Amino acid sequence: MQTYETLLAAVTTPDGGSSVTDPATDELIGLAPERGSADLDRAVAVARTAQPGWEALGHEERSRLLNAAADAVDASAEALAQLISREQGKPLNGPGSRFEAGGVSAWLRTAAATPLEPERVLDDESGQATLHYRAAGVVGAIGPWNWPALIAAWQFAPALRMGNTVVMKPSEHTPLSVLALAAIVNQVLPDGVLTVLPGDRDLGAAMAAHPEFGKLMFTGSTRTGRAIVRSSAGHLPRLTLELGGNDPGIVLPDADPAAIAEDLFWGAFINTGQTCAALKRLYVHETIHDDVVDALAAVAARMPMGPGTSEASLLGPLTTADQFRIVDKLVEQAKADGGRLVIGGNPDRGAPGNFYPATLVTDLPLDASLVVEEQFGPALPIMAYTDLDEAIAQANALDAGLGASVWSGDVERATRVAARIEAGTVWVNKHGTVHPMVPFGGVKGSGYGLEFGVEGLKAVAVPQVIAT
Ligand code: NAD
Repeated sequence: MQTYETLLAAVTTPDGGSSVTDPATDELIGLAPERGSADLDRAVAVARTAQPGWEALGHEERSRLLNAAADAVDASAEALAQLISREQGKPLNGPGSRFEAGGVSAWLRTAAATPLEPERVLDDESGQATLHYRAAGVVGAIGPWNWPALIAAWQFAPALRMGNTVVMKPSEHTPLSVLALAAIVNQVLPDGVLTVLPGDRDLGAAMAAHPEFGKLMFTGSTRTGRAIVRSSAGHLPRLTLELGGNDPGIVLPDADPAAIAEDLFWGAFINTGQTCAALKRLYVHETIHDDVVDALAAVAARMPMGPGTSEASLLGPLTTADQFRIVDKLVEQAKADGGRLVIGGNPDRGAPGNFYPATLVTDLPLDASLVVEEQFGPALPIMAYTDLDEAIAQANALDAGLGASVWSGDVERATRVAARIEAGTVWVNKHGTVHPMVPFGGVKGSGYGLEFGVEGLKAVAVPQVIAT
């Protein structure tokens, strides 16, 4: 079992690393080691050497080890959560860092438990054919800073289950959370099976161009996803691209504003809005628009915002000063565009930390930048609509298609609307809830490929048909 102090000591370096600061206070947490392309070559060589032995263990033994890794995460979950809150900023409580640490364990256990049998795809007088899923070799994984440990587990748990070894690069903004998670699971995994290389975007670019990866898993912005497609084109690794989103929500006229307000709020403001599949623009039927806005404002007004490490906080700071500036600029532009600030805005720009208040903006033109650009922060634009077809057209108007939601008292009606929305997942009367057995992935500018469940296992494998 690790404490916060032992974990921090295990993942920081006394000198020569990059500074990691607490986004709530701007204070130094520690120095993270920094790796470069020579380290990448070494790590890939180690992973290549370890891969055949790991694959040869078979599904049952690898699953046993993944469950042991989940046990190790559970034993050190509090220390991991403290480090995530310190580094990334999300609160310990609510859908925060303890929830994230619990998710890591759940995804490891599900990757271990999900059966994936060969599929008999033909069996008649013409012959038999069976589809098998083989390891892809060494998997390269590049991650973002918003859910650093959880998304790392989304990448490495299925990859390891399928017999691959993994070389992973965390975001330069959250290296410690991922190094800490690897330090915990590597207490039980064989050497060389999972290597974490902290480094900057140049290291990510070197990974994308490295010829030895059989598969690259990337979670991050659409812009970087496109760069990875270009850099990897020379050697064609298989790709899973989980990219940015701008998830719409449509509230139908029969929804009950008071009943949905809290779920709407968390759909948008989970992790202070820094979530890929968060609600990022809300279209509400004009007959209940004002009631929904009032109910949401009431929820926002009572949500405590403060340092992630405070037990009282349910909303934390933004992880980076850059992200604060992006949100600040979009809200200021929204005001200039004629938007009405219902609550929030006006952050204390001189104060320490990257705190931006939970913000609701109405009366915006449909093409305002706060609507059409991904804010990735706590500022939700709310638009009134008259005609449902027009709301659906607006939902589908952007080059993003990760998640979406429809809110209604009539689930069947909402489901019919859901089918018309261009998004990888459309939730009804909730937003952003992911489950380790339910496939998740985007369409359009939000990328391609699926994670989670059986589809997620197939995605980190190489299909092979044997036909007789
Ligand atoms: P980012 O694209 O800036 O960085 C992600 C990672 O890519 C980092 O590790 C970075 O070092 C690396 N990188 C940067 N340039 C690279 C290059 N040229 N080649 C290879 N790697 C490179 O994204 P971010 O700011 O860390 O994350 C926020 C974005 O991620 C948002 O758009 C969000 O919606 C998206 N996201 C998507 C999902 C999903 O599941 N679809 C989940 C979380 C976040």
